[in-house]
Amino acid sequence: MNILVINCGSSSLKFQLINSETEAVLAKGICERIGIDGSRIVYQPEGGQKIITESPMPDHTQAIKLVLDSLTDTETGVVKSLDEIGAVGHRLVHGGEKFASSTIITDEVIAAVTECNELAPLHNPANLIGIDACKKLMPTTPMVGVFDTAFHQTMPEEAFLYGIPYEYYKKYKIRRYGFHGTSHSYVSKRTAEILEKPYDQLKTIVCHLGNGASVCAVKNGKSVDTSMGLTPLQGVIMGTRSGDIDPAIMEYIAKKENLDIDGVMDVLNKKSGVLGLSEFTSDFRDLEDAVLAGREDAIRAMKVFAYSVAKYIGSYVAAMNGVDAIVFTAGLGENNKYVRTDICDYLGYLGIELNQEANAKRGMDIVISTPDSKTAVLVVPTNEELAIARETLALVK
Ligand code: ADP
Repeated sequence: MNILVINCGSSSLKFQLINSETEAVLAKGICERIGIDGSRIVYQPEGGQKIITESPMPDHTQAIKLVLDSLTDTETGVVKSLDEIGAVGHRLVHGGEKFASSTIITDEVIAAVTECNELAPLHNPANLIGIDACKKLMPTTPMVGVFDTAFHQTMPEEAFLYGIPYEYYKKYKIRRYGFHGTSHSYVSKRTAEILEKPYDQLKTIVCHLGNGASVCAVKNGKSVDTSMGLTPLQGVIMGTRSGDIDPAIMEYIAKKENLDIDGVMDVLNKKSGVLGLSEFTSDFRDLEDAVLAGREDAIRAMKVFAYSVAKYIGSYVAAMNGVDAIVFTAGLGENNKYVRTDICDYLGYLGIELNQEANAKRGMDIVISTPDSKTAVLVVPTNEELAIARETLALVK
């Protein structure tokens, strides 16, 4: 069966068409600037060149229509008709406490996801628009929702409750939810396969390090703690997000800078992290170049970043009473050998020794610790689209 995977944001929409038998990506691409001037679709069939077409996309329905037109195009398409698309898998960011696993999308599910909109105002409404657009254009094709939060629903109460009045949990469901669950689940499973160990007997710490970054403790196949919280602002320092801070800093900044709560949140979400610390970039590639050139501002940002990740790893060793494997994934985790080295330099107490030849490789599943290392360290490229396609297949079969 061919499965269309959709990751719908507020102004962009990423897609992949995956053959579920071979797991080959038949085509992939992105619609950019939806609802804004200059919208375009980038479409790439398997083994072919990228085709970039500028075309007005006043809304997501038009964007999905262009995706379906591209997939069925007589020259560059990869299927003859929409009948060859057996199901659609949607990435959904927030499922609250209602969804501990992926689900077939029904009207009831749409209503339940809509109730979670307040918890992810930037993401959930956009995800729902994508579902609505697919419903209009492919009304009989089954759709599945795969939630970023679902994998973390196994966290115990001591990990998900905050030290604030319990009534806020009861009334408003304020708690840790965690994100990047599809990635943490995929990468931790893959780690067990690579190490040839049973997934349900392994303690793994996954470091998903991209623009958004989170660390997850996976014990015996279940997420038992993760660094992001009610929202993706908590946890390690990120590209532009502050991660953990003393909550009182918010009041202090508000008074000093004469900002209201929206202004303070904007600083913490968009002007902090390594961008705020380096004062010049949120991009880890730029930072890597600047660190290699000896720039103090970049070195400062990267030191704070690596330290914040190392501290989370330490706390999850405590949470799981040990660790068998530490795994790096996502844009930065997969590609930056210096960051991996800096983080592992803090972990001598785990008996970690890196094999720098392996650590220098890119784009593959690889063990980067030496055979003598007491804890295994790996790089496992994440593949959220494939994970969504697998979940979708399992439910529509
Ligand atoms: P997100 O999905 O959260 O936007 P990604 O997982 O794509 O993030 O990671 C983006 C980050 O990874 C960027 O800061 C980028 O500089 C870094 N990155 C991506 N590719 C490379 C690379 N080849 N070398 C070094 N850093 C990279």
